[in-house]
Amino acid sequence: MKRVLSRAVEALRGLLFPRSCVFCGKPEPGGVCGECKLSLPWYGEPTTLTVDGAALPVTAPLRYEGLARGALLRFKFHGRVRAARPFASLMAACVRNLLPEFDAIACVPLSLTRRLRRGYNQTRLLADALSRELDGAPVISPLRKRVRVANSSLGAEQREQNTQGAFRLKRSASLAGLRVLLVDDVLTTGATIRECVRVLRGGGADVVGAVTLCAVARNQKAED
Ligand SMILES: [Zn+2]
Repeated sequence: MKRVLSRAVEALRGLLFPRSCVFCGKPEPGGVCGECKLSLPWYGEPTTLTVDGAALPVTAPLRYEGLARGALLRFKFHGRVRAARPFASLMAACVRNLLPEFDAIACVPLSLTRRLRRGYNQTRLLADALSRELDGAPVISPLRKRVRVANSSLGAEQREQNTQGAFRLKRSASLAGLRVLLVDDVLTTGATIRECVRVLRGGGADVVGAVTLCAVARNQKAED
């Protein structure tokens, strides 16, 4: 409990006062220093995932390597939640440039046990910060995740199988006709995004696209 509280305090402080570059740690009030802007593994290309035979537009500002991978792992596993705002600012640029209009932002959920252990859902933090960057499109949480083996320990084919049925719609979810942007932290094989899109569509949502902070390039080994 104490750990969760101290993480919450760190989370709040971090969200209010981002003071150093989230990628290299040098003092930088804006969150991303000039040097990193030049040397980050930029991606930012429109790509597509095939979901039930149709193409879904997906984009990410960064490749999942080097400084970007390190910063994402610190954000995800080591409580560096202050990175959410600068990360979301990079993601927002991709969304504005590459994705269609939407009404609401939905994030990929964590299972309850994992969220309690970690103290936060990093993808929810990204979605909230992205909403602020994009002038307040509401963040919705229509999905819940069932407890499963972590995808990071599995190969691509096993991931796809493990992910099937991993997400459910909450009973309270009201999605009919809603244009939804899906947010996740990293695009690896696409299994998680595909499954979330299927479930959201099953609930009547029109999923217009997905954005992640990082994407694994095709020649990279997939991992979470
Ligand atoms: Zn830097």
